[in-house]
Amino acid sequence: MKKIYYNDGVLEPDRIEDKLHRIGMETELVPIPIDIETMMDVTDSFCALSADVLDELRLAGQPLGGVLLSCDPNHRLVSLVAKIAPHAAWGASVGMLAAYWIPDNHVLVMHETMHLFGVDDCYGSCGFDGCLMQYVPTPNSVAPWPECLCARTKKQLKGVRI
Ligand SMILES: [Zn+2]
Ligand SMILES: [Zn+2]
Repeated sequence: MKKIYYNDGVLEPDRIEDKLHRIGMETELVPIPIDIETMMDVTDSFCALSADVLDELRLAGQPLGGVLLSCDPNHRLVSLVAKIAPHAAWGASVGMLAAYWIPDNHVLVMHETMHLFGVDDCYGSCGFDGCLMQYVPTPNSVAPWPECLCARTKKQLKGVRI
């Protein structure tokens, strides 16, 4: 059982859990038990935030897992991401941390969640138009769950111990 911690604002955590269960990934979505909003406000880099969050979770005696964060598009975290990943338009991931800043797009939420399982971006390289791991995924461009998981993504998920 893998735990994914999420902050206030993450869209429909129960729906993420349901979608993962549908493909046999027994994952629990839990509200993050540390003061993540302050950490997001004061961090100097996205990479440092990733490391610090895992440290804080460890100190709090929490099992390690993925961390999924939602923030406002104007949040300073977004400008910090732009420094290391200028191509990141709607979300980004480093280590066990993924963040996104476009509200009301559950397809994007699932794209970022997949990064927490070690899945890479396809950005068209897999040749599947409906791929979840495309650049700027939208409900119109991505195939329904779980058909949106391309062969490349499935292969990467096979190596995941959950
Ligand atoms: Zn991505
Ligand atoms: Zn793909």
